[in-house]
Amino acid sequence: MNGQETISPAIKAGFKAMFQYVTMGVLVISGDGRIALANPWAKKLFGYQKEALNGQLVEMLIPDGFGKNHVKHREGYFKRRRARSMGYGLSMSGRRKDGKELPLEISLGHYLPGEGQLALIFITDITERTRSSEEFDAKVRERTLELTQSLAREKGLNEMKSRFVAMASHEFRTPLSAILSSLSLAESYRKIDEEEKRYRHIQRIRASVKNLTGILDEFLSLDKVEQGKVELLKEDFDLCAFAEDMIEEVNGMLKAGQHIDFDYKGQRGIFQDKKILRNIFLNLLTNAIKYSAEKQAVHLDINAGKKRAVIEVRDEGIGIPADEQKKIFTKFYRARNATNIQGTGLGLNIVKRYVDLLDGSINFLSLAGQGTTFTIELPLDQGL
Ligand code: ADP
Repeated sequence: MNGQETISPAIKAGFKAMFQYVTMGVLVISGDGRIALANPWAKKLFGYQKEALNGQLVEMLIPDGFGKNHVKHREGYFKRRRARSMGYGLSMSGRRKDGKELPLEISLGHYLPGEGQLALIFITDITERTRSSEEFDAKVRERTLELTQSLAREKGLNEMKSRFVAMASHEFRTPLSAILSSLSLAESYRKIDEEEKRYRHIQRIRASVKNLTGILDEFLSLDKVEQGKVELLKEDFDLCAFAEDMIEEVNGMLKAGQHIDFDYKGQRGIFQDKKILRNIFLNLLTNAIKYSAEKQAVHLDINAGKKRAVIEVRDEGIGIPADEQKKIFTKFYRARNATNIQGTGLGLNIVKRYVDLLDGSINFLSLAGQGTTFTIELPLDQGL
């Protein structure tokens, strides 16, 4: 029985309409790889008009790089035909008439009518699906990065907190016990002629409280620069007089026989942020004193030109071991020869950040056991 004769005209019209209006490309390919039929959706998909596809090799719809292989695949397919349904379809690229590539998913079918074998190709354009999956991938990548960064921030913060606790519990202990012992001693000196002793202990308490406040101040200023909350406030002032004030301020810290040699060259008036400079000077001078022994001199040399000032703080103290020099600007880092001397490991980190803020540079030269020289170069703006 001839199957075609049994199909009613209504069913035929239905099949035709299906071919005509289905929202997917349908191609019928003959055994020699030529396009026998292309439905309107397929033509639209590839950008061809009317009958332009009819009789053409199917490879014209495939990007150049894949065309050759496709001939082999096609010939193989016609030898060993087997249907590939949509779900297991092939993902591949198509080529439009204008040369643009588009991602496709295709399924294959075949049939053997009287006049030879024909293959059926069903084509779905997956541009949207690919784009949204690429967008999704990009979003996942972006979120993963955000998450990793915030985890790292959190980890950094935790590490910082525990280092602060470790440093604080170590550094607070000494001044606090000094305060306690001085307090009980001061209490015990009740007689009038013990006034001087009592005064000495009150001075010790004052120094220890100052020390504690200093540690807290240091921590707060670090927090402030780290958060970018420091605003520059430049003003005109006399750098030489300012440096003399700084020397005066650290005078009380000098050990027996220590003194600060001061040398100033160049112009005196500069335009800079005084508060930041104060912090830089006090940190470097305090370190030079702290890390030097009794009788060892500290030198402060300043040379102020029109465009820049060079500030040098030199000591003849314990120096920084060569293998640790790279790390001393790192937060909380303290060299191994400094562990018996009070400190937080924050000062130089803050100084470095401040110098950066002023667009300056900081360098040092140090030899363990011989001394250290810190050199700061600052650009000088012209004042108002
Ligand atoms: P702190 O002095 O509170 O420990 P800093 O950040 O100021 O912290 O200094 C970091 C480390 O660098 C110090 O612990 C010390 O090891 C070393 N250092 C800094 N200045 C000097 C100096 N003038 N001489 C020797 N070592 C120094």
